[in-house]
Amino acid sequence: MTEPELVDVVVVGLGVGGEEVAGRLAEAGLSVVGVERDLVGGECPYWGCIPSKMMIRAANALAEARRVDGLAGTAQVQPDWAPVAKRIREEATDTWDDTVAVRRFTDRGGRFVRGSGRLDGPGRVRVGDQVFQARHGIVLGTGTRPSVPPIDGLADTPYWTNHQAIEVEQLPESLLVLGGGAIGLELAQVFARFGVRVTVVEALDRVLAVEEPEASEVAAAALRADGVQIHTGVRAERVEHDGTRFTLHGDGGAEFTAERLLVVTGRRAHLEELGLNSVGVDAAQRFLPVDDRLRVTDGIWAVGDVTGEGAFTHIAMYQAAIVIADVLAQARQTNAGPDASGTASVVGGAMGAASSLGASGSSGSAGSVPRADYRALPRVTFTDPEVGAVGLTERQARDRGINVQVGFTKLGSSTRGWIHQVGDEGFIKLIADADQGVLIGATSVGPAGGEVLSALVVAVHAAVPLSQLRHMIYAYPTFHRAIEDALRNLR
Ligand SMILES: Cc1cc2nc3c(=O)[nH]c(=O)nc-3n(C[C@H](O)[C@H](O)[C@H](O)COP(=O)(O)OP(=O)(O)OC[C@H]3O[C@@H](n4cnc5c(N)ncnc54)[C@H](O)[C@@H]3O)c2cc1C
Repeated sequence: MTEPELVDVVVVGLGVGGEEVAGRLAEAGLSVVGVERDLVGGECPYWGCIPSKMMIRAANALAEARRVDGLAGTAQVQPDWAPVAKRIREEATDTWDDTVAVRRFTDRGGRFVRGSGRLDGPGRVRVGDQVFQARHGIVLGTGTRPSVPPIDGLADTPYWTNHQAIEVEQLPESLLVLGGGAIGLELAQVFARFGVRVTVVEALDRVLAVEEPEASEVAAAALRADGVQIHTGVRAERVEHDGTRFTLHGDGGAEFTAERLLVVTGRRAHLEELGLNSVGVDAAQRFLPVDDRLRVTDGIWAVGDVTGEGAFTHIAMYQAAIVIADVLAQARQTNAGPDASGTASVVGGAMGAASSLGASGSSGSAGSVPRADYRALPRVTFTDPEVGAVGLTERQARDRGINVQVGFTKLGSSTRGWIHQVGDEGFIKLIADADQGVLIGATSVGPAGGEVLSALVVAVHAAVPLSQLRHMIYAYPTFHRAIEDALRNLR
C-alpha cells in the first residue's frame, strides 16, 4: 500500500474555481497539490464562456452589418466561419492545450498532478497510485458535464455537446438544438447568423424558462428573426442517425431532421466518481450541498458548479474567495495550536494572505470569513438582445408570499431605444418588495442588457431603498435610463 504524502491542501479539479483556490493558497505559502484530469482552467476557457463569447462577438458583427441597410446605406455581408474557428483555436484555447495554464499554476507555487482525484478516507485523496494526506483541507472543484437525457437511440448517435459545437471548423448546413436554455439559444443564434438552418426543440412551454416570460418572448422573437425555428412543448422521444442526418422524433408525432444534433439539456455533477462515501457524504445527490462557507463536511470544501448554486464563472470565483479565506483561517488556527512547531513561515504566509485577500465579503468584517449570499446573483444570456437578470423573478417572489410590486418599461420607449431603432428590442422589469421598499429582482433585456444589469445588481445586493433609486441621476440618453421609467411604473 502506498504511503500517503503529507501536504497542506489538495484541490481536485482545476477549473475556474479550483484553479483560483489552489493558486491563491499556494501563493499564500501553503503546500498545495492541484489535481486535474483534463485541462487546467476547465470548461470556461476551452468549451464555455470564452470561445462561445468569441463566436457571439463575430455573429453580432454580422448582425450589425446587416442593420446598415436603412440606417447608414447598404452593406453586403459574406459570413465566413474560418476566422472564428481560428480565433478560438489560437487565441482562446491554444488548440485545447493547457501548457500555459499549468505553468500559471506552478509559477504560483502549486504542485500539479495530472489525473483523476478521488477521496480515500478522511483527509486523503488518491490519484492513481499516489495518495495525498491533506493537513488543512481538501477542495472539490470538479464542475459538471453535459447532462444527456435518456432518449431512445440518442446514445448510439454522433450527437454534439458544447464541446463539438465549440470545436467545429466547418459549419453544418443544418443543426437541431435540443434544449432552449441559455447555452442552446446563444449557440443557435450564432450558427443561424452564419447561415446554418437551425431548429430549437424545447420540452417546456417556453425557451429560457428560468427567466421572466417576457424575456422568453423577446429572445424567441429575436431568434426567429434570425431564421431559427423554435418548437416548444415538444418532448424528444427517439433519435436516429442514418450515417449523414439526424432525425428527432418528438411526442405528438413531431419530427425534425438536420445534419447535426446539439444536445444542451443541462449539466450534471458526477458525484459518484469522487469517493464521497469514504468520508460519510452521500454521493446520490444532484450536487454537493455546502454551507455558507462552502464546507461540505469537516475539512472538505466545494467550489463552483459542483455546488449547484449557479453554473456561472462568477459564482465559482465568488465562492473561491470564501473558500480561500476559510481554509486560511483554518490553517491559521491549526498552526496556532500547541503543535505548531516548525510551521512559522507557513503561518506567516497564510495569515498575510488572509488579510490581503481581505476576507471581506458582503457580510464579513475585517479578518472574518465572508459568508456566501446568492440574493443578488446576476445571470446573463448573451443572445442579441442580451437577457440580464438578478434575484427573484415575479413568479418566484409571488410564490414566496412577498407583497410584490412590478415595474415594466419597453426599451423602445426610452430615448436611447428610439434612437437605436433597429435592434432595440428589450425591456426593464423590476420586482420590488413593497413592504421593505427595495428591489428583490430585475430583468434587463436589450442590446446592452447584461451591462445595464450591473446597476440593478447593486440595487438588489445593497438593498438600496426605492426612494433613493428614484432620486438618482441617470445619464441621458443611456439604455440604463429606462430603469427610471420602470421605477415610475412600479405598482
Ligand atoms: C457553452 C457554455 C457557455 C458558458 N458561458 C458562460 C458565461 O458566459 N458566463 C458564465 O459565467 N459562465 C458560463 N458558462 C459556465 C462556466 O463555464 C462554468 O460555470 C464554470 O466553468 C464552472 O467552473 P468550475 O470550476 O466549477 O468547473 P469546470 O470549469 O467544469 O472545471 C471542473 C474541472 O474539474 C475537472 N475534474 C472533474 N472531476 C475531476 C476529478 N475527479 N479529478 C481531477 N479533475 C477533475 C474537470 O476536468 C474540469 O477541468 C458556460 C458554460 C458553457 C458550457
